[in-house]
Amino acid sequence: MVKYKASYSPVLDGRIIDLMWVYLNGDILKSEEARISPLDRSFTFGDGVYEVIPSYDNNLFLFEKHLARLYSSLEKTFIKAPSDLIDLKKILSELHIKNKHKNQFFYVQISRGIQEFRSHESSSDVTPSLFITSQKLKKNPYRNNPNKAGLKIRLEEDVRWQRCDIKTTALIGNILSMHDPSLAKVDEIFLHKNGMINEGSRSNIFFVKDNKVFTPPLSQKILPGITRDFVIDLLRRYKIEISEEEIPLDFIYDTDEIWVTSSTKEIQPVSQIDDYVMPVKKTGKVIWKQLLEAYHHI
Ligand code: PMP
Repeated sequence: MVKYKASYSPVLDGRIIDLMWVYLNGDILKSEEARISPLDRSFTFGDGVYEVIPSYDNNLFLFEKHLARLYSSLEKTFIKAPSDLIDLKKILSELHIKNKHKNQFFYVQISRGIQEFRSHESSSDVTPSLFITSQKLKKNPYRNNPNKAGLKIRLEEDVRWQRCDIKTTALIGNILSMHDPSLAKVDEIFLHKNGMINEGSRSNIFFVKDNKVFTPPLSQKILPGITRDFVIDLLRRYKIEISEEEIPLDFIYDTDEIWVTSSTKEIQPVSQIDDYVMPVKKTGKVIWKQLLEAYHHI
């Protein structure tokens, strides 16, 4: 529980922590000063889109691709681009300096806007809101210690809506089971439907069999991950065969490697899925390790 003191020094578990600087509709301010109406449609309908952008040493990683996906999410949801979005790069750089952490990741959230009377429809003059937070980006633990045990995964039926290609803030389908007290804690959930694997609840998935890499194809069933795209480019560069195809659930038990990708996780290996423990690869190169080594050196 965070308690605020008069001097903006919140106390978390007895330690004084720095408050985060955030951006809200034109202003950079301390997180506790940020105010937005509860009539904002992101609150009443989950009616918004977002982007997660990593920044290393105040250098945005794959910024143009994240920006393009954000514009694509806006277009698909018919949400207007806020006028300050053109300054996004400058705003993120300023937030990076203010928040001090060496590496950070930004949540860039756009809501359709504030509407006085709750209605499914919105009037054409509703003004979109732009809200940005920054968090410390922890170093991917597998960069220093590639032999660390991999992630633990739970398999689940994909109960989300049928437009998972849109990066919407309405994420209850992704987070629901993480709040079920009867379920054990895992690192990630793999979502499947009709016997096919779609993606992780917050990552894309890659499989390796006989030195060939497989990942589900782009469709409305998965998010077009920026890291997924980047990793596919790396694989092509290394002339490692990559196939984007539907992956049956059983394939899990017949692979040499499974890994996930995301902007904050980069590339991380999997070692257990439900009760199944992945065998450790004894011969040949481990592809995810090769890619992670190259990740920041291209
Ligand atoms: N799928 C889902 C459902 C996600 O939430 C994420 C992370 N935002 C990803 C895939 C990976 O996307 P990216 O590489 O762009 O972070």
